[in-house]
Amino acid sequence: MKILVANLGSTSFKYRLFEMSDERVLARGGVERIGSPQSKCFVEVGGQRDEQTLTAKNYAVAVRLCLQQLTDKKCLASPQELSAIGFKAVHAKGITGVHRVDESVLLAMEAYNDVAPAHNPSYVTVMRLLAKELPEIPLVAAFETGFHETIPPAHKYYAIPIEWADKHGIKRWGFHGASHRYIAERATKLVGNPDAKIISCHLGGSSSLCAIQAGKSQANSLGMSPQTGLPHNNRVGDFDVFALPAIMRATGKTLPQILDDLANRSGLQGLSCKSNDLRDVELAAIAGDKNAKLALDVFVASVRHYLGSYLLLLGGADAIVFTGGIGENSVAMREAVCKDLEWFGIQLDAAKNQTAKGEVRIDAANSRVQLWIMPTNEELIVARQARDCLT
Ligand code: ADP
Repeated sequence: MKILVANLGSTSFKYRLFEMSDERVLARGGVERIGSPQSKCFVEVGGQRDEQTLTAKNYAVAVRLCLQQLTDKKCLASPQELSAIGFKAVHAKGITGVHRVDESVLLAMEAYNDVAPAHNPSYVTVMRLLAKELPEIPLVAAFETGFHETIPPAHKYYAIPIEWADKHGIKRWGFHGASHRYIAERATKLVGNPDAKIISCHLGGSSSLCAIQAGKSQANSLGMSPQTGLPHNNRVGDFDVFALPAIMRATGKTLPQILDDLANRSGLQGLSCKSNDLRDVELAAIAGDKNAKLALDVFVASVRHYLGSYLLLLGGADAIVFTGGIGENSVAMREAVCKDLEWFGIQLDAAKNQTAKGEVRIDAANSRVQLWIMPTNEELIVARQARDCLT
């Protein structure tokens, strides 16, 4: 069975093609600049990359071009050999888990366009177009909230009028499910204890911590929307809603304008006034920029806030895992997060942290808690979920 896992950007379609019998990645590729007369269509097989400049006027044309390239490269005998396209979908009203995409799923996603504004509108548009133009290919949505169905009520409910939660689904749903599920499975295996207590720190463009026990999610720092929890690249993180009327009065902005600021001009970008990319913020802080330093300090404080909370929730941890673009690559961030935690049995090996690459342990010899860097593999999780959904 061959499954394509899609990653949608605002003008790009990227994919990995999996052979599910042995979970091999047969090819990766995609189309950039969709909608432009000079779209770039690329495919990488066995480390060799081919690129063509073509016109992909929309996502359906882009997917057809990709299928043709995969057929030319003999990764598919024909486009019909593809069993499904799997999507790492974010949020839908009243739906979680893994679903074949049909109109009811699309309507449920559309209902939360404003709860997940960076993700849902583009996913719905593309899925609808593909369903119409390529009806022969099943589309499967694996929702990010699915892994968090095991979170107990104490960590799932906000203290709001109960009918908002029970009738309208206003709860801490949690996100980054594919990444945390991968880390849960992999770290539990590496620790060698099926009941292992793991704290997964996915730090990237969007960031969240997840408390995991026996492979199951117990709490996630993301809540009702992907805007909450830790500060993100340009999204706010945790925030007091009673600040809203004060901001409206002070700025003269409407509620939708302020929500747009909180979703697009906040987080690392908003505080640093420099960039939404941690690399730029780190460089600016080293050069003495005060706002950049503040952005880093706020980010680290938030990671440690949830880390402390999850150590208490789980009653300690067997392993803490760093993943995501920041978690895997920022030596300084890992060092700042783990600073002065010896009392908790957490001790980083500075030299290992400095040179670490790929999946590797970075704890000191006398650390009670294992510390890991682990590249996540969200696409593999989505491919497995799509396969299970179809079979
Ligand atoms: P997304 O959440 O969008 O999938 P990633 O997990 O790929 O994003 O993380 C992207 C972020 O990782 C970038 O915005 C950047 O801040 C950070 N990053 C990537 N490489 C480095 C690095 N070498 N040092 C520090 N931060 C990095």
